Amino acid sequence: MIQTIRGFRDILPEDIAIWQAIEKTASKLFEDFGFKEIRIPIMEKTELFARSIGETTDIVEKEMYTFPDRKGDKLTLRPEATASVVRAYIQHNMGASDSVQKLYTIGPMFRRERPQKGRYRQFYQINAEVFGIESPYIDAQLILILNELFKRLGLSELKAHINSLGCKECRPTFQKELLGFLEGKKEHLCENCLRRMDKNPLRTLDCKVAECREALKDAPSTLNHLCDNCKEHFETVKSVLTEQNVEFTVDKTLVRGLDYYSRTTFEILTTALGAQSAVAGGGRYDALIKELGGPETYGIGFAIGFDRLAEIVAQMINAKDVEVKDGSAAISEGNTDRLSQSNTSSDFMNLLSPKVPDIFIIPLGEKAIRLAYMWTSALNIAGIRTETDYSGRSLKSLMKRADKINASNVLIAGDKEIEDNALVLRNMKTKEQFFITTDNPVEQIETLLNRV
Ligand code: AMP
Repeated sequence: MIQTIRGFRDILPEDIAIWQAIEKTASKLFEDFGFKEIRIPIMEKTELFARSIGETTDIVEKEMYTFPDRKGDKLTLRPEATASVVRAYIQHNMGASDSVQKLYTIGPMFRRERPQKGRYRQFYQINAEVFGIESPYIDAQLILILNELFKRLGLSELKAHINSLGCKECRPTFQKELLGFLEGKKEHLCENCLRRMDKNPLRTLDCKVAECREALKDAPSTLNHLCDNCKEHFETVKSVLTEQNVEFTVDKTLVRGLDYYSRTTFEILTTALGAQSAVAGGGRYDALIKELGGPETYGIGFAIGFDRLAEIVAQMINAKDVEVKDGSAAISEGNTDRLSQSNTSSDFMNLLSPKVPDIFIIPLGEKAIRLAYMWTSALNIAGIRTETDYSGRSLKSLMKRADKINASNVLIAGDKEIEDNALVLRNMKTKEQFFITTDNPVEQIETLLNRV
């Protein structure tokens, strides 16, 4: 049997309610804040990622899915979205219509990392990018948006960590001091860090190897080397967040795994998935647009790990009330009710309500099956979720199926009912019954279900 590739997975129908609800909640939030959706290809020229993310990053060094196409062009499955959105911004001269562009995109990314819980080789991100704003208010606003999204999803255990990496004016002096420090610690550093010392010493601060972490715990901080402009920028970000009651921690070790960041960087961390991990990360990349051949333009953005977010939301729902079906957690009506009493946004909980059939038509007899198909289609077109069954099985066995798929009502349509012109609509919860004639069942059902 052919199975999925390691690190790749299916998101199954029983899990999809959470994904769709998160996606709708995020899109609505972005649109409320004036963002427009952009869809970008999942494959680009390798050069785009090598130039933007940085040759010495883990992503470019070890994790990209890169291959030659049939003509020998070097292509890469996108490991992140920012580079592609920047490419699109430049290619379509988007700054010409308005100097400020706020864009979001949702889709799969590919990195050949070691798979584990919360880490996949195909994973999904929700991305936001803003072009053309130098002001620190937009830095604060992006963190506010993340905060608001998590609030709307009912998540409270997430912590924003922020740092400033300085700019091209102040980073060189910092790098010099850092290099001096690293020279003294050389014997404790891993091979990667030794190599990074030459190309991008800042990246050593991001190393996950325990010995390096220990050796670098007293490493100099960018925060002590910011120029006046960067200092003022960062102070404004912090004071605005404080005024808006967005909690954050200043974290001098936060340098992020991509080269293009400058000034404000941030991550949203959680312990909900075991060891502390990031659910979202982002920051400013003021030099990137020019670097990729565009006009000098300010840029800032973030990426949310969709898979991790979906797992945290699923955990939260299960923690409140668990109903286990076939080994997987199912969202029951009772448990969405209970959640909506907590501080969770009721809109999000409504989106999570299970989509069960409004009606299951039970046809008994050949003639009935054809009519059941016709009525089902008409009801589907009228927006009433309707299912039927063409197998010709008995009433008893079809009632069992109705139960299994949680149909709210059944419509019993035996040849006899059709002949008597009296179909039976039964509410499965209250057991109430109504008679329906065969001439215009759709309208009668719409009326009975209060859909008109
Ligand atoms: P990054 O682009 O590395 O800053 O990642 C942004 C977010 O994407 C992270 O905070 C994670 O939540 C998520 N993420 C990154 N890599 C993976 C992965 N391999 N599997 C699942 N989620 C990931």
